Amino acid sequence: MSFAFQIGRIAGIPIRLHFTFLAIIPIVAYLFSTFTATTSLDLFGQVYELSYGFKDVEPAEARWAYSFAFAILLFLCVALHELGHSFVAMRYGITIRSITLYFFGGVASMEDIPRDPGMEARMAVAGPAVSGIIGAGAILFSFQSALFLGGIHPLTTLLWTLGVINVILMIFNLLPAFPMDGGRVLRAWFASRMSYVEATRRAANIGKIFAIIMGLLGLFGGGIFLIFIAFFVYIAATEEDRSTSIIVPLEGVKVKDIMSRELKTVTPEMPLPDIISLMFREKHRGYPVMVDGRLGGIVTISNVQKVPEEKRGTTVVGDIMVKEIYVIGPEDEAAGAMNKMMERQIRRLPVMEDGRLVGIVSRSDLVRAIEICSGR
Ligand SMILES: [Zn+2]
Repeated sequence: MSFAFQIGRIAGIPIRLHFTFLAIIPIVAYLFSTFTATTSLDLFGQVYELSYGFKDVEPAEARWAYSFAFAILLFLCVALHELGHSFVAMRYGITIRSITLYFFGGVASMEDIPRDPGMEARMAVAGPAVSGIIGAGAILFSFQSALFLGGIHPLTTLLWTLGVINVILMIFNLLPAFPMDGGRVLRAWFASRMSYVEATRRAANIGKIFAIIMGLLGLFGGGIFLIFIAFFVYIAATEEDRSTSIIVPLEGVKVKDIMSRELKTVTPEMPLPDIISLMFREKHRGYPVMVDGRLGGIVTISNVQKVPEEKRGTTVVGDIMVKEIYVIGPEDEAAGAMNKMMERQIRRLPVMEDGRLVGIVSRSDLVRAIEICSGR
């Protein structure tokens, strides 16, 4: 269940709305219709009276219209922020599956990002850069609007409020609170100095500290919103740390480091009852089948299970073995073996070197390797 639906596509990327985002639009509209803060700015010898918030807009219909227009424009700005990230990612050839807008902002779902600190930093900075540009643009337009329409004109207020919020959005996102954008830049910076897992752990810990500070500020007067964001940052930091420590530890690990070298092979002539008792005795779930001294197939417990009880006495391994074999080399990355198994939905890969079978690597070998490497 995702509780989100698609509203359209931009540059081929599906844009999705989460239900929390729908709830937030009227809330934002309401909030901004209940207050007004006026500031005077003296810029280039020109005094601008600018209002923030729509409380003073009359009549009420106009107040609500501007408040809602503001809330929707704000949502567009958040989407553009997210598109900023996505466009940089696409320039690097990464596929963006979708962008989902939540109450706290947008989240782009993309396929696995190659772990390149420089690229990640550039991607992370792109979002706040978009917010900053929109913010600066809206503020400049609000000055123009103040000049021609007056400082208290609702259009001036709309532009000024939108500009200020976008600048706040930029600053807020640049806080080094992982997994917010600033935190990603921080992780990239750490990652150029230490292992990726360690860098993620550090950035996540700093993110959690920020989350706790934000939560406390929220409790003592900052409002419920800050508490929500604090929760989100805390949970997301924990999640990211965990998922990184599962995938990344395999980096640098070779197939030859984790494969089983004690090779038990069987022949195609072996009767089924014999291989069944062999599987029982040795607790292996699959065996390479050697035909004339060469790898001819693989037989696994699931191949055996498919043969009906009464036919097992007359069946031999050669009848049921899988001849379509995917192999891997000892010098290949263990992570590559993991991907191959997941893609093909298989549990073990024979390891071949110069046409010779030198070992076998199974999913359990990989799981064990992840456990060991995560602890180092
Ligand atoms: Zn962002």
